Amino acid sequence: MASKLRFKVVDDAFKKRPVVVTAPAERPSAYFGKYVFTRQKMFKYLPTKVYRELCDVIDNGAPLNLAIADAVAEGMKQWAMELGATHYTHWFQPLTEGTAEKHDGFVEHDGKGGMVEEFEGKLLVQQEPDASSFPNGGIRSTFEARGYSAWDPTSPVFVIGDTLMIPTVFISYTGEALDFKAPLKKALYAIDKAATAVCRYFYPDVKKVNSNLGWEQEYFLVDESLYTARPDLMMTGRTLMGHDAAKNQQMDDHYFGSIPARVENFMRDIEIQALELGIPCKTRHNEVAPNQFELAPIYEETNLAVDHNMLMMAIMKRVARKHGFRCLLHEKPFKGINGSGKHNNWSLVTDTGVLLHAPGKTPMENLRFVTFIVETLKAVYDHNGLLKAAIMSATNAHRLGANEAPPAIISSFLGRTVSDLLDHVENSSDDEILSVAGKTVMHLDIPSIPELLIDNTDRNRTSPFAFTGNRFEFRAVGSEANCACAMLTLNTAVAEALTSFHQRVEALIAKGEAKESAILKVVREDIRYIRPIRFDGNGYSDEWKEEAAKRGLDCETSCPLIYDRYLDEASVQMFESQKVMTRLELKARNEIKWETYTKKIQIEARIFGDLCLNHIIPVVTKYQSVLIDNVHKLKEIFPAEKAARISANNLTLIEEISEHEQFIIEYVRRLIDARRIANRIESERERAISYHDNVAPLIEEIRYHVDKLEQIVDDELWPLPKYRELLFIN
Ligand code: ADP
Ligand code: MG
Repeated sequence: MASKLRFKVVDDAFKKRPVVVTAPAERPSAYFGKYVFTRQKMFKYLPTKVYRELCDVIDNGAPLNLAIADAVAEGMKQWAMELGATHYTHWFQPLTEGTAEKHDGFVEHDGKGGMVEEFEGKLLVQQEPDASSFPNGGIRSTFEARGYSAWDPTSPVFVIGDTLMIPTVFISYTGEALDFKAPLKKALYAIDKAATAVCRYFYPDVKKVNSNLGWEQEYFLVDESLYTARPDLMMTGRTLMGHDAAKNQQMDDHYFGSIPARVENFMRDIEIQALELGIPCKTRHNEVAPNQFELAPIYEETNLAVDHNMLMMAIMKRVARKHGFRCLLHEKPFKGINGSGKHNNWSLVTDTGVLLHAPGKTPMENLRFVTFIVETLKAVYDHNGLLKAAIMSATNAHRLGANEAPPAIISSFLGRTVSDLLDHVENSSDDEILSVAGKTVMHLDIPSIPELLIDNTDRNRTSPFAFTGNRFEFRAVGSEANCACAMLTLNTAVAEALTSFHQRVEALIAKGEAKESAILKVVREDIRYIRPIRFDGNGYSDEWKEEAAKRGLDCETSCPLIYDRYLDEASVQMFESQKVMTRLELKARNEIKWETYTKKIQIEARIFGDLCLNHIIPVVTKYQSVLIDNVHKLKEIFPAEKAARISANNLTLIEEISEHEQFIIEYVRRLIDARRIANRIESERERAISYHDNVAPLIEEIRYHVDKLEQIVDDELWPLPKYRELLFIN
C-alpha cells in the first residue's frame, strides 16, 4: 500500500545518522593538490629541459613537439602510478550536461609473453573517440563521425581513483568544436589580445591579460530515501507536483543559519576531496531556501575555473550518496521557494598584476578604469539578448523571471559611485577634463577607493550583471550549467568591444589627436551609447519590464525563441570576427540546444502523466470511495434529514475530488496529444517552440489540481513524500 511505503521512507530518512568525516591530520595547505600534476611535480618528474619547454607551452602557447610529449607522458605516468593509477583517460566536456571519459589501461604486451605499463606522448596529446554518440548538431553524419580529443596543457592532469584524467578539447574530424572548452579557449585568447592592446595605452609593459572566474555553486540536498520515492525528482531533477510546506523560507531562518551536522559532514567531505584535486574551496553556507546550500572557491583563471566547476559538480553528486543524500543541481527543484544559480564573478587581470576593475590613484589609471567598465557594458548592451541565450535552458527558465532570481532581462548595476563617475565624464566638457596648455591634466573627480568599496557592498541583488567593486557578477547563470557557455560569450563580447574601441582610438590618433584625448572622446561616445543597459533599480518590478522594452532591451521569455539570438547577424559577426566560432558551429549548437530543450520537457511530460494516472488518481479514487462509503453509512444509522446535514461536508469533498480528477484525466489526455503533435514536427526549432507553447503550460495547469488534491486526501494515503518532508529532514 502506498501509504505504508511513504511512512517507511520518511521513517528511514529520519533514522539516518551522519557519516562522520574527520578532516585529515594535516592542514588543507598540506594536502591541497595532492592528486594534481602541479608545476612542482612536473619539475620533480620531468627532465629540466622538458619541464622548461612544457612551461613555455602552458604560459605562452608554444607548440608542443612529440619528443617532448613522450617525455611528459613518461613523467606523468610515473607520478600517477605512484598514486595507484592503472588507467588514463581523456576528460572532455561534450555538448551534453556533464563530462565524458573513456578509460584505457597503461598495460601493453612486452613482446615476451608478459605485460608492461606504457604511456606514449601521442596518447597524451590526441585521441579519437567516436563522435557520433555525442551531440553534434548535424555537423557529422553518423557513418563518418570521427572526432578528436586533444590535450589542453593549460589545465593540469589529475588522478581520481585509479585513473589519470587528462583535460582535453573535443573537435570533429573537420575541425568544428563539439565541446565547450575549444571555443572557451579561443574566447580567452581573443580577450587576451583585445584587452592587452587597450591596456597598453595605460601600461605599455603589459604582455597578457587573463580572464578570471569565481563561481558560487548553489545546490539542494535531499535525503536519498525520500528522493528515491519521488520518480519525478529521479527522472527530471525537480518535483513536478507538491504543495507548499506551511513553513518554507518565510522566516528567513535558513540563510547563513547553523549548518546541520549531517550536511556539515558532507561539506567537509567534498571540500577535502576538492582540495586534494586542487580546487581552492573557501566558502560554505546555508542558502535562502530550506535544504539549500552554497559552495564557493577562490577565483581562478577562467579555463581552469570551468574545469574545476565541472569536477566539483561530479564530486558533489558522488559524495552526497555516501552520506545518504542526493545533491540536486537543478535550477528549480521545488516550486514556491528559491531556485539555485551559479553566480559567475568575472574579472580581468594583467600579467603585471594590475586588476583592471579597481579604480586607481593616477589620472591614467582612472581613465583605464572607466574605459574597461564602459567597454564591458558596451559588450553587455550590444549582446544582451545573446548573453541571455547563453544562460538560458529548460531548467534555468523556471528561475529567471520569477521574483527571486535575476529577471529575464539583462541589464547592469554599477552602484552610485561608478554611475556618478560615468555621468561626470559624460557631462563635463573636454576642457574641464583634459589638456591645459598642451599638458594633460585629467580631472575625473574620482572618489577615494575605500568610499567606492563601501558603496558597492550595498549591492543590488536583483541585477543580473552587477559591478561589485573589482569584478562583475553575472548572476543569471544556472546552477546546473557549464559556466563555459556564459564565459565564452561574455569574453568574446568584451573582446569585440575592446577591439572596436582600439580601432576607433587609433583612427583618431592617426588624424593627429593626442592619445589621452582620443581615448576620452571614444569613452564619452560609448558612455552615451550604453545608457540603456545601466539600471540600478528593482529588476523585479513590472515598471522595469515596461521601461526595458522602451529602451530596446531583449525582453523575450520563451527559451526556444531566446536561442534565436545566437544566429543574429550581430552574434555571428561577433563570434566569427573574434575567431571563436563559425556560423556552422553556431547553427549546430542551436540545433542541440533546441533538441535538448524538447527532450527535457518531453521527459517531464511523460513522467508527469504517469504519476498522475498511476499514483495520484488511484489513491484519490480510493479516498473518495471512503468518503462515499461514509455518506452511505451515515444514511443507514441516522434519519434522512440529519444524515444529509452531517454528510454535507463529505459530499462537497466528494464533488471537489471528482472535479479535480476529471480535470486531471482530461488534461493528461490533452498533454499526450500535444506531445504527439509536437513530435511530428521536423524542425528542431519549431518542435521546441511547440513543446514550450503547448506542452509545458499543460503540466503547470494540471499540477494545480494535483496540489489541491494533496491538501484534501488523507495524509496516510498520499503516495509521494511531501515538501515538508523533502525539505526539512536532514
Ligand atoms: P557573495 O555571495 O556575497 O557574492 P561569496 O564570498 O559567496 O560572496 O563569493 C564571492 C565570489 O567571488 C568567490 O567565488 C570569489 O572567488 C569571487 N571573486 C572575488 N574576487 C574576484 C575577482 N577579482 N575576480 C573574480 N572573482 C572574484
Ligand atoms: Mg555572489
